[in-house]
Amino acid sequence: MILGLLKEYGHETRVALLPEAVQNLISLKADVLVEKQAGEAAFAPDDAYTAAGARITNRSEIFEKADVLLQIHPPSSDDLAHIKSSQVWISAFNPLWEKQLVNTLLDKGLTSFSLDSIPRTTRAQAMDILSSMATVAGYKAVLEAALKLPTFFPMFMTAAGTIRPANVLILGAGVAGLQAVATARKLGAQVYVFDVRSAVKEEVKSLGGKFVEVEGATEDKAAGGYAVEQTEEYKQKQQEAINAQAIKSDVIIGTAQIPGKKAPLLISAQTVEKMKQGSVIVDLAASTGGNCELTQNNKTILHNGVTIIGESNYPAQMPVDASRMFGKNVLNFLKLIIGEDGSLNLNFSDDIVKGTCITHQGEIYNERVKSVFEINK
Ligand code: NAD
Repeated sequence: MILGLLKEYGHETRVALLPEAVQNLISLKADVLVEKQAGEAAFAPDDAYTAAGARITNRSEIFEKADVLLQIHPPSSDDLAHIKSSQVWISAFNPLWEKQLVNTLLDKGLTSFSLDSIPRTTRAQAMDILSSMATVAGYKAVLEAALKLPTFFPMFMTAAGTIRPANVLILGAGVAGLQAVATARKLGAQVYVFDVRSAVKEEVKSLGGKFVEVEGATEDKAAGGYAVEQTEEYKQKQQEAINAQAIKSDVIIGTAQIPGKKAPLLISAQTVEKMKQGSVIVDLAASTGGNCELTQNNKTILHNGVTIIGESNYPAQMPVDASRMFGKNVLNFLKLIIGEDGSLNLNFSDDIVKGTCITHQGEIYNERVKSVFEINK
C-alpha cells in the first residue's frame, strides 16, 4: 500500500503524521509519500521524513500514485476533482455536520473514513482523535483565559493583601471539559462544572471541581455516552442556574456539544451583560454555533467589558504534541486496514473499520451518519 501524507491548507500548523509515526508505518511494510513541507509548521522538516524512510514529492504525484490519502482536514473542492474512486480518503470531516461533503463523496463513489467517527469503545481508545484534540483544546483554553484575565487564578496571601482565587465555570464535562477542570485547578482556581450527564459528577469531584446540579436532565443510553437534546422545561431551569453561577464567575469555558447538532446555547447576551467587567469567556463550541449567544467563530470580541474568545482550533496552537497524538491515533487505526504484507485490507466486519467508514462504493457505512441522512430524505 502507498500512503500519501498531504500538507494541510489554511492556517493549520499540524500534520497528520510526524516522522516518528511514518517510521512505524514503514515498519508495517507500507510505502509513504509525503507532500513537500507537509510537516514544516509542526517543526518536522522534509529531511526528517526522508530519514524516516518516506519520499518527498508534490501533491499531484500523491494524487496520482497513493492508495490512501491522509490529511487532518476535509478534501478541498480541488482535491475532490482529483481523487479517484479506487483511492481511500482519510481525514476528520465531521460527517454529521458536513452533509454536502458526504453527498459529494457518495456521488463520486469514494471510500472515505472520518477519524472523528471512530466508535467510543474501549478497543478504539488508542485511535480516538477527538479525545486527543479535546485534551489539547481544554488545556489551551484555560491557559488563554488565564493570560487574558486581568486578575490572578490562584489565591495569594501577600504583604499587599489577600488575592481571592478566580471562579471558573466549565460548561460540559466531556474530554475537553475535564481537561479544563484539571488545568484550572492546577492553576489554583475555584472550579464549577455543569453537565447534563450525571455520570461525570464523580469525575468532576475527583479532579477538585464542584458539580452544579440541575435536576431533570434527559439521558439516553443509546446515544453512546453522548448528551442528547433537553426538554424546554429543563433548558429553562438550567438557564437560571447557569445565569446565577455565570455572574459570579471570572472565567467561563464552554465545551458543551451534541454530536451532529448545533451546540446548546447556555449563556445569553443578557447573562454576559451581568458578568463582571474583565471576565473572559472561551467558547470551544464556537464552530457549531457556540455555548454563548455572542460568540463569533474564530474571533475574539469585547462585549460590555467581557472578552469572548471563539477560537475553534486550539490544537493548531500546539502543533508538535497535537500532531504527535493525532499521528499515534492514526497509526493505530491504519494497523486495522493494513494486511501482513503491507497491502490495503478493508475489513468491514471489524466494527471500528465499519464505524469509521463514512462512504464506500456509493453507500453510507457509519450507522449514525446513515440514520441522519435517512431522516433528512
Ligand atoms: P462532547 O464534545 O460531545 O460534549 C462535551 C460535553 O458537553 C459532554 O460531556 C456533554 O454531556 C456536555 N453537554 C452537552 N449538552 C449539554 C448541555 N445542554 N449542558 C451541559 N453540558 C452539555 O463530549 P466528548 O468529550 O466527546 O465525550 C462524550 C462521551 O464519550 C463521554 O461520555 C466520554 O466519557 C466518552 N468517551 C469515550 C471514549 C472511549 O471509550 N473511547 C473516549 C472519549 C470519550
